[in-house]
Amino acid sequence: MAYDRNNTFAKILLGTLPKRTVCENEHAIAFYDVNPKSPIHVVLIPKGAYTSAHEFYSIASKEEILGFSAMIAKVISLLDIESSGYRLISNQGLNGGQEVPHFHVHVLAGKDLGPFLVSST
Ligand code: AMP
Repeated sequence: MAYDRNNTFAKILLGTLPKRTVCENEHAIAFYDVNPKSPIHVVLIPKGAYTSAHEFYSIASKEEILGFSAMIAKVISLLDIESSGYRLISNQGLNGGQEVPHFHVHVLAGKDLGPFLVSST
């Protein structure tokens, strides 16, 4: 799927939409979700134009992948959620329920998040 340069996170990266930044490095940025699904809800995005995890991990440079991964650890430390626990979620495509077509990982924490998924097989 071609990258949509008008997607919400592309606008955040451009600075045309506001964000509440948690932290940032050369290759990635973490900011608070505007519609939090848990008491702590942060979104991490690579700065490059990647729609999906598959695309990111297939074609991004080692430096981008390392920068993005390092950001996950940094956010967990900054939010002080390592001992209480947290959930990382990355929705992909139609079946994954992805709303914003720029690869991202959600960091959810701050309460017991309950079961991983409600079974509906
Ligand atoms: P997903 O369904 O995984 O694509 O999730 C997209 C997430 O982006 C949702 O949790 C939204 O609440 C969040 N979101 C949408 N617009 C903004 C925004 N302007 N700033 C921060 N988070 C946003």
